[in-house]
Amino acid sequence: MMEAILRAGLTDLGLSAEGIPALLRYWELLAEKNKVMNLTAITEPDEAARLHFLDSAALLGLEDFRGRSVVDVGTGAGFPGLPLRILEPSVRLTLLDAQRKRVDFLREVCAGLGLEDVDCVHGRAEAFAQERREQFDLAVSRAVAALPVLAELCLPLVRPGGKFLAMKSVDSQEELNAAGRAVSLLGGRLEKPLDYVISGTNVRHRLVIITKIEETPKKYPRTFAKIKKNPL
Ligand code: SAH
Repeated sequence: MMEAILRAGLTDLGLSAEGIPALLRYWELLAEKNKVMNLTAITEPDEAARLHFLDSAALLGLEDFRGRSVVDVGTGAGFPGLPLRILEPSVRLTLLDAQRKRVDFLREVCAGLGLEDVDCVHGRAEAFAQERREQFDLAVSRAVAALPVLAELCLPLVRPGGKFLAMKSVDSQEELNAAGRAVSLLGGRLEKPLDYVISGTNVRHRLVIITKIEETPKKYPRTFAKIKKNPL
């Protein structure tokens, strides 16, 4: 059943079915590891097919990822980054998460799937920005923080001309309004968000798109304590 859901969803998105075996193997590894550590609240395979895999895959219909360097900030069990890399193999992917165990799991998955070129990094986004400032074409993120905080974590990693794509729910209008100031202080410009329906469901999600129009001032990102206490 999971395979049929993925097949229908990928067809819907105009994507090749070639990635399906890798997605199924990924799910096997994830479901197995989820018994001994907390990786996902979704344990039902059909639901995972839709809410993890097809939700992640939807981004490929909304932005051109081909050949892009992409950092997934707060990737957790690998969403949305890993499905993007599986379905669009030319993506140069960095998965970043602050929890070591999750990153260890991601390394196992990448080794198991033969994705040796995926960079799995254990660390916090605000520290990683010291190392890899303005080096990515795209940053993506789902379910990590409210937009004003998230923008400070992600935009410093994006090169001018690149984009930060935040996966949000459709009731994120307030968050969007609150993020305007942060986005412009960080060198970004909020574009019109793109709403989409996850294939095979009536779940509507929203892709918030921020174009990096100029370099982020060196004083950002601040320490996480400061970001949290006093969001931009
Ligand atoms: N993106 C995944 C996981 C969401 S859970 C998904 O949508 O399924 C949020 C994850 O963000 C956690 O794994 C947490 O460790 C990570 N995280 C939170 N703040 C972070 C930060 N400042 N830098 C890196 N990772 C962070």
